[in-house]
Amino acid sequence: MARLEGKVAVITGGAGAIGKVTAKRFLAEGAKVVLVDISEKTLQETKQELRGGVEIVQADVSKETDVKNYVNKAVEAFGKIDVFFNNAGIEGRVAPLTEQTVEDFDQVIAINVRGVFLGMKHVLPIMYKQGSGSVINMSSVSGLSGSPNVSPYITSKHAVVGLTKAAAYESARHQVRVNSVHPSPVNSRMMRSLEEGLGTTEKTLSKTIPLGRYAESEDISNLVLFLASDESTFISGAQYRVDGGMAAL
Ligand code: NAD
Repeated sequence: MARLEGKVAVITGGAGAIGKVTAKRFLAEGAKVVLVDISEKTLQETKQELRGGVEIVQADVSKETDVKNYVNKAVEAFGKIDVFFNNAGIEGRVAPLTEQTVEDFDQVIAINVRGVFLGMKHVLPIMYKQGSGSVINMSSVSGLSGSPNVSPYITSKHAVVGLTKAAAYESARHQVRVNSVHPSPVNSRMMRSLEEGLGTTEKTLSKTIPLGRYAESEDISNLVLFLASDESTFISGAQYRVDGGMAAL
């Protein structure tokens, strides 16, 4: 039997690198998928590419009216939400903390923190009514330790850990699980943008990763699939690294 047979999954940032690969994986394992993204164009392209079992909703995850709308649309389309991959995020500006503006900081916090909060605020009541569900919040290795020149991003990804722990506590009595995932650099547009801002390359950064390479989006989706599936029904409130051995450093 497929690992997500009969389940309905909502994925924010669903038209991005990790979101799309995870959607593909979820579909292959029998799920119906609702993709949420701010970019209507890439959503349409992604829907074409993935074919059946996919609904798309354009939304800005930092806006509560948009969040209510994508949650309502998901329930209208498929009747329930079993899995919520709270994944949308931006990298923000690359600059020392002293050069980050209030606007730079607030924009990253609005999407990466408020967006994760609002998603759970409106999805969790549905899961509570069902008495089941799995939420996977996207953090990063940047949610567990610091690095230079991305202070709003580091702050936002640490906040995702706090939100995850708070929600896991409150949700356990409803048999709803909440975990966070923490990837090291992934071979993606986001890393190309960060490499440019930091003045470095994949080759150089890969030397800081014990397994000697960036993750592929598939490496991340393997972990997300496990947390989405019934193979992880006793796991909640956890921070899962998928980091090529960086935890050992
Ligand atoms: P990506 O840029 O390819 O995908 C992010 C998606 O989020 C995009 O499709 C974008 O349109 C969407 N988005 C941005 N702002 C939004 C908003 N306000 N409302 C709705 N959608 C919005 O990036 P990715 O590499 O797939 O990253 C996905 C998540 O993984 C992010 O939270 C990121 O911080 C995290 N992450 C990425 C890496 C990496 O190296 N790429 C490493 C660790 C963690």
